[in-house]
Amino acid sequence: MDTNKLWNSFLEKIQGKIAKISYDTWFANTKLYELKDNKAIVIVQMHIQKKNLKENYNDIIEEVFTEVSGSNFKFEYLLEEELNSNIEINTDEIGVPINNFETNLINKYNFDNFIVGESNKFAHATALAVAENPGQMYNPLFIYGNSGLGKTHLMHAIGNYIVKNKNKRVLYVTCERFIEDFIGITRKKNKNNFDNVEIFKKKYRDIDVLIIDDIQYLGNANQTQQEFFNTFNDLYGNNKQIIISSDRSPEDLKLLEERLLTRFNWGLTINIFPPDFELRMNIIDNKINNNMLSINFPKEVKEYIASNCTSDIRKLEGAITKVVAYATIMNIEEINLNLAIEALQDYFSKTIISKNKIDQVQQIVANHYNIKIEDLKSKKRVASIAVPRQIAMYICRTILEESLNKIGIEFGGKDHTTVMHSVDKIKKQIENDKNFENEVNKLINKIK
Ligand code: ADP
Ligand code: MG
Repeated sequence: MDTNKLWNSFLEKIQGKIAKISYDTWFANTKLYELKDNKAIVIVQMHIQKKNLKENYNDIIEEVFTEVSGSNFKFEYLLEEELNSNIEINTDEIGVPINNFETNLINKYNFDNFIVGESNKFAHATALAVAENPGQMYNPLFIYGNSGLGKTHLMHAIGNYIVKNKNKRVLYVTCERFIEDFIGITRKKNKNNFDNVEIFKKKYRDIDVLIIDDIQYLGNANQTQQEFFNTFNDLYGNNKQIIISSDRSPEDLKLLEERLLTRFNWGLTINIFPPDFELRMNIIDNKINNNMLSINFPKEVKEYIASNCTSDIRKLEGAITKVVAYATIMNIEEINLNLAIEALQDYFSKTIISKNKIDQVQQIVANHYNIKIEDLKSKKRVASIAVPRQIAMYICRTILEESLNKIGIEFGGKDHTTVMHSVDKIKKQIENDKNFENEVNKLINKIK
């Protein structure tokens, strides 16, 4: 039996039975590895995919596969690395639910126009899994990442999906809104306080999915933390889905109480990273296709924008808007690179890294690895210091584009060949290790 052929017929068939986005996310990149005895082994790309197929799609998979193959198989889903090593990676995480209501959802943020790339594919897949199974996959879902990387977009996408496909009440609020609502009830104490409390509780507890955006702002409001804690417990206890976003990881939410952080860790925490070049180009294309039909954007203009907006998709969108506005005002029908450069002169120059940023990079790296700046400038060779030093040099070279000599001087008077070797070493490691790349990107992202 040709497994490839069989799997293709299976995929074709199942495609007709589930939503396109679900198919694209969970099935499109699967492979049938082997059929042995009564067992079918399917290769998947991500943990979340494995978990979701097993927990939520297994029945339909077995059913459809029986239709195309004529016999019954038990399915097993494995990651490529598990195949080679024969080790099953345990992906059982705590699963929980959420709730919804006077939704506040923005329709234009949905899964259809969320472009997926390397940096956000895990966040996207997880978000979709939660949207398909609110309250059952991961609770709470905690999404974090720097500003402008799509957290809000993704959360609205989840909410919109649930409203559309599940019969559930969703409430989206910003953290500020939550605080205001809470302060509202305490202010009106002397009047009909009781009613206000009830209204608040009804709003926040009589729902199936609660989405709270930018939770880092809760840090300044102690009483609200208490109320959020109560709300959280109530919803969680009733298997309602909670989705939270933040610009930093739970560990870095310094002002939040320990017990809240503990609760965030009950569910799943996902990080959304800065987009790589390919994703930036795809987002630009998508934005142009969706919004402006008449103006032609040459490839070099797109590349110019993608090369200059590396860490913030909001900024990327702003750049496109600026170029279009400029062309319109100047009454120019054909956008070209010169026009784009002119239009974006001020826009980009504000973000261009100013002169002595080496200090800042050293500070960022030293903080992150919990070492002293003097250590970075020292000759110490233990890995806990040498590696951060190499990373810092790498960032100074590739991001700040400083000369090898200058970097050498700023790192305690090192020879330029030492700097060069450090940069090369980190470059190689980045190419070979995705996690390491992410770690370095996180540091780069902190440069102001
Ligand atoms: P955050 O909440 O992380 O600060 P947003 O969700 O507000 O970021 O995203 C900023 C802008 O970038 C929004 O207009 C959003 O639609 C857009 N955006 C972010 N990520 C993507 C993506 N993957 N595909 C398409 N648009 C995106
Ligand atoms: Mg946001």
